[in-house]
Amino acid sequence: MAKVIIIAEQRDGRLKKSTFELLSASSAAGNETQAILLGDGITDLAKELGHYGAQTVHLIQNPALKFYTAEAYSIEIIKILKSKNPDIILASHTPSGRDLLPRIAAQLGVGLASDCTQLSFEGNKIKVRRPVYAGKATVEVEFIGPGPQVATVRPNALGGAKLNTNQTAEIISITASLGTLKTKVTDVVRGVSGRPDVTEAAIVVSGGRSLKNAENFKLLEEMGDVLGAAVGASRAAVDAGFRPHRDQVGQTGKVVSPTLYIACGISGAIQHLAGMRTSKVIVAINLDPEAPIFQIADYGIVGDLFLIVPLLKDEFKKIKDEHN
Ligand SMILES: Cc1cc2nc3c(=O)[nH]c(=O)nc-3n(C[C@H](O)[C@H](O)[C@H](O)COP(=O)(O)OP(=O)(O)OC[C@H]3O[C@@H](n4cnc5c(N)ncnc54)[C@H](O)[C@@H]3O)c2cc1C
Repeated sequence: MAKVIIIAEQRDGRLKKSTFELLSASSAAGNETQAILLGDGITDLAKELGHYGAQTVHLIQNPALKFYTAEAYSIEIIKILKSKNPDIILASHTPSGRDLLPRIAAQLGVGLASDCTQLSFEGNKIKVRRPVYAGKATVEVEFIGPGPQVATVRPNALGGAKLNTNQTAEIISITASLGTLKTKVTDVVRGVSGRPDVTEAAIVVSGGRSLKNAENFKLLEEMGDVLGAAVGASRAAVDAGFRPHRDQVGQTGKVVSPTLYIACGISGAIQHLAGMRTSKVIVAINLDPEAPIFQIADYGIVGDLFLIVPLLKDEFKKIKDEHN
């Protein structure tokens, strides 16, 4: 059994699903599982962490922690980590997790395994697997030497989170004393999208250059609406201005690991695969039977996406209606 501390993540008063996955995995392995949650006005969220397996929640609140900054968050997190001395420290491999955890590891003087796609607990150790060479290979990583083992885990990699409302956590409330900070968030400009983020969604429908213009992405949005999916894009589609950069999947975009990834008119360049090849089931629709995407697809449809996507949407809708 290990002593595990999970850095929880919330935004706009909602906890990230990937935090629940980490808590559930640690708790199911029988570990002593604690969480650190930072923000402002988020007392109710601390209770929710208990329902997913946190035995203790260190709740740190301060107006300066309302928005994430690596500086302020790490000051408070390090204080707790040093006093609790955990065996393992985990966070999700999200934009803030990948920003924060290297800083935490450096301040503790230990190594970091980032973007892990598999994780197993063995006594008070973890063994992880992570992609290298843009996802062409994976390596197994074990930690050696003293000090906590620090890892970030790709969202959706560990499987579903288990909610148990009978489980509750001890909540330790801490008022942050941050001193003078060098950085401060003064404004957050949000993109307008009512859709789930590609990194969080269980289903992602992505389109490429072949969609020809932004308007045609409506086809994917309509199918996405039926499936409750996020809509992603290749870099070629983003560079052409069809979609905003936040939807880009790949090496220079977001890394996703959904249950189902439907690639519509995407060739399957190595840089795109780097962002989606760990998806559980991959469906590719492409005119070209030789397109590289078919090499990693579980199901391939050779044909014109402008004909196939509306047909698929109608079939998905029929199935959905039958089950409602
Ligand atoms: C440093 C670097 C970083 C990069 N990072 C990324 C990244 O993060 N993400 C990313 O995606 N790319 C990235 N790229 C770009 C990548 O190399 C490819 O250029 C890009 O992924 C191609 O996008 P695409 O598949 O939409 O377009 P294309 O390669 O042009 O492919 C279009 C595909 O659509 C098919 N098609 C055409 N019409 C239809 C139709 N009607 N129905 C069905 N299929 C059709 C074609 O057969 C073709 O396979 C990066 C490149 C570099 C150099």
